[in-house]
Amino acid sequence: MRELLKRRIPNITEEACDKFVAYYELLIDWNARMNLTAITEPDEVVSKHFIDSLAAMPYLADGTKAADVGTGAGFPSIPLLIMRPDLRLTLVDSLQKRVTFLNEVCKTLGLRAECVHARAEDFGRDPNRRASFDAVLSRAVASLPTLLELTVPLLRVGGKAYCYKGDVGEELKSAKSALHLLHCSAEVVPVEADYGARTLVICTKNAPTPAAYPRKAGMPSKKPL
Ligand code: SAM
Repeated sequence: MRELLKRRIPNITEEACDKFVAYYELLIDWNARMNLTAITEPDEVVSKHFIDSLAAMPYLADGTKAADVGTGAGFPSIPLLIMRPDLRLTLVDSLQKRVTFLNEVCKTLGLRAECVHARAEDFGRDPNRRASFDAVLSRAVASLPTLLELTVPLLRVGGKAYCYKGDVGEELKSAKSALHLLHCSAEVVPVEADYGARTLVICTKNAPTPAAYPRKAGMPSKKPL
């Protein structure tokens, strides 16, 4: 795994390699007791979880304050934090046992991050959280119209949501109304991958989010904007 990491991630330090290996070991160990990932082969974990998670790294300025909505086992946050300890990350997931796992990962790897058990809909209505982030990251959580309602309220005006996606053609068309209602614009950036299409949909928040959004828990997925 160390050789592969060194080949795939230019300038990776020995310390970062150690942390990726420790993260992998925790992932496999805890995965035996709870559902964290279906991908467990070392090479696949490196390319489909670790490297994929780093796609937003070049866009995040030093010290960016970001939330990872629906982080699950810590993707994309934990790989980003291993490479970029300057980032100020809040990891959010609606499943308590995944948050327990994430706290253990942060403790073992010596990473500074806040791990929060919450639904994104409630988190986005909390006055202490709403409009307080420079960036929101989200991977494999929901279709774009739903995801925009879960992420955009958390951004300050001018902030960006980085949605990790595959081939996004039809999904982008279906997000037209959500982009309009949430005062956002989107660009699609291709991401290099050795297994199928990967893209980042980067959505910029151009004006404050109307108070009606996010709607109550469950609504963004039940009736997408
Ligand atoms: N982002 C991780 C990844 O790329 O591997 C996890 C993806 S997993 C398929 C989706 C995660 O989103 C789950 O851990 C789930 O608990 C969480 N999730 C789904 N809906 C959510 C919501 N409304 N608020 C917070 N977390 C949510």
